[in-house]
Amino acid sequence: MRTKLTAAAAIALTALPLSASADGEVNIYSYRQAYLLEPLLNAFEKETGIESNVVFAKKGLAERLEREGRNSPADVVMTVDISRINELVERDLVQGVDSETLEENVPENLRHPDGKWFALTTRARLIYTSKERVDEGEITTYEELADDKWNNRICTRSGKHPYNIALISSMIAHHGEAETETWLKGLKDNLARKPQGGDRDQIKAIAEGVCDVSIGNSYYYGNMLRDENQRPAAEAVRLVFPNADGRGTHINISGISLTKSAPNRENAVKLMEFLSSPEAQSIYAKANTEYPANPNVELTGLVAEWGPIQPDSLSLQEIAERRNAAVKLVDRVDYDG
Ligand code: FE
Repeated sequence: MRTKLTAAAAIALTALPLSASADGEVNIYSYRQAYLLEPLLNAFEKETGIESNVVFAKKGLAERLEREGRNSPADVVMTVDISRINELVERDLVQGVDSETLEENVPENLRHPDGKWFALTTRARLIYTSKERVDEGEITTYEELADDKWNNRICTRSGKHPYNIALISSMIAHHGEAETETWLKGLKDNLARKPQGGDRDQIKAIAEGVCDVSIGNSYYYGNMLRDENQRPAAEAVRLVFPNADGRGTHINISGISLTKSAPNRENAVKLMEFLSSPEAQSIYAKANTEYPANPNVELTGLVAEWGPIQPDSLSLQEIAERRNAAVKLVDRVDYDG
């Protein structure tokens, strides 16, 4: 009895040993990487005797589920980013789970109202600033990114990336579309270069003096600190937890959903409950410098060092609902242009 893990690129997805009918199994489609899931699934098997089969992919899981329809062997999907999670709901590929354990472990703003997804970890979208060229406390909110004082001093990845879309969606939820458009224009006007690269590249750009301020997820910074080659760049920047004294810092999630087909429904719900438990939550969050979704889990490692976070309490569902408006705004201000 060993947890079978199949690392597969999207192209290799067809030849995987997934069984739709065997007892004592649960089948997982995952956008999350093997090193994150392996310790969790081993712990789950140890506790329940249920074996996990995993298909890892970088994209295309929703399409695959759609294609397989009712015959899909998948029981659960594990993914990151609220818009990707919500896509599963909108395509009617997942079903609600009614579980007291999950409702107890996962706060209401971090799960779907009908249990169609549950957050397992959260990640904060932070402002990174140059330790050299920006004083501590000089910028404390997302709103200030549009101030003239940052003209030519900000770098970001594409405005169309889901992480930025979710942030812009949260701005719309708090300020309305018109005000958010003005803000986004102001931010665009402050860019030192065309949006490009990922969040880590913005940290590198600050270290290289290309810009002084950027936006990025908490774990990229944490994971760069843990990597010998990338540590010097990370050490050149300071983390700002925006809006900590106000409405709170924007967070996104990684989550889990029960598929509509779910041949091993009972085992799948057991897995979901297990993953929301304090034991699993602390393993999971620590592996990628994320925050546990379960508020009863003590922070450990780097995130504990960074101190308690004041997350925006806005429901992630509400952020998902504003996605289309955010995408339109990014186009209208030609953010990437
Ligand atoms: Fe990421």
